[in-house]
Amino acid sequence: MMNNPETCWDIVVIGAGPAGLTAALYLARYRRKVLVVHDGNSRALRIPTTHNAPGFPEGIDGPLLIERMSRHAAAYGACTQEAEIIDIERSADSFRMRSSDGRVWESRAVVLASGILLNQVDLAEDVHDAALRAGVLRYCPICDGFEHTDQRIGVIGCDSDGAAEALFLRQYSPDITLMPLSHPALSEEQASELARAGIVVKTGALHALNPGPDGMEVHLEGEAAPLLFGVIYPALGSRPRAELAVRIGIELEAEGCVPVHSIRGRCVPGVFAAGDVVEGLDQISVAMGHGALAATSAHNWLREQDRQTLQAAC
Ligand SMILES: Cc1cc2nc3c(=O)[nH]c(=O)nc-3n(C[C@H](O)[C@H](O)[C@H](O)COP(=O)(O)OP(=O)(O)OC[C@H]3O[C@@H](n4cnc5c(N)ncnc54)[C@H](O)[C@@H]3O)c2cc1C
Repeated sequence: MMNNPETCWDIVVIGAGPAGLTAALYLARYRRKVLVVHDGNSRALRIPTTHNAPGFPEGIDGPLLIERMSRHAAAYGACTQEAEIIDIERSADSFRMRSSDGRVWESRAVVLASGILLNQVDLAEDVHDAALRAGVLRYCPICDGFEHTDQRIGVIGCDSDGAAEALFLRQYSPDITLMPLSHPALSEEQASELARAGIVVKTGALHALNPGPDGMEVHLEGEAAPLLFGVIYPALGSRPRAELAVRIGIELEAEGCVPVHSIRGRCVPGVFAAGDVVEGLDQISVAMGHGALAATSAHNWLREQDRQTLQAAC
């Protein structure tokens, strides 16, 4: 039973990225008492400029998009607090969340929009982020392959994921090189498909990356001189931030993501997932769509609990 009005909410949204902030906007406009809790790690905050977010033909910087989305949700009454949630428990009619600094919140429903973490290349954090901002290090060909049309492109990760990424990028440039992080792990079939597409495959392990303002130097074992690329795409996978989903009883997909039907709350009653943490295409527009669906499902679920729907009244 929930009792303290200061810490009790209709819905707590975990995450302040495009998914969580869209959910918060919709929920606030459904006149729900909604709190967003986040630990400041939205991937969108790392986007220098996105050119595929619909409605922004000149592109928009990730931090500016997040600032506008936060302001939009707040304008309708959504509250935000910064904290890392480390525990979540479900009782008969509520959820209880605890943060690493000991704060506690209770809510009737939860939207889980906790995103993913990228597996990054080995560079000091400040060097890594400067390379991201300069656009010489990229992680998402769907997002920004277009911006590198006809450039010399390197892909790191000489396995099936790297091969798929290299073949995807071939649409943008004839000059693609696939390089292993440590050793190549390609099947014969993959190797011949890459050869057919004119993609160069290197076999020497990656020794070092040296980003500059106009490109990235790659030092490979066995190469006399560094290779120079306009941009590098590491294809090293990601880790969904799904620990809280597991704690609350959601069974994950093989890749560690939350299943798609959790968007509609069909895994655990009262828990609605959205965005990158859900299995699918990791994109801003998808995260926003999930956020709208999860929020509406959560609102309708609460209406059902309160016997405010036709179905519930029968
Ligand atoms: C460099 C880069 C460039 C990109 N470019 C594009 C692009 O051009 N176009 C595009 O569509 N996409 C792009 N993306 C992908 C895009 O950023 C993501 O798809 C999008 O941010 C997903 O939104 P989300 O809300 O699901 O997750 P995120 O934006 O990652 O937000 C997750 C939220 O959950 C919070 N959180 C997680 N766990 C906890 C916890 N335990 N307690 C509290 N808070 C928690 C985090 O603090 C964060 O607020 C890019 C990503 C990167 C890294």
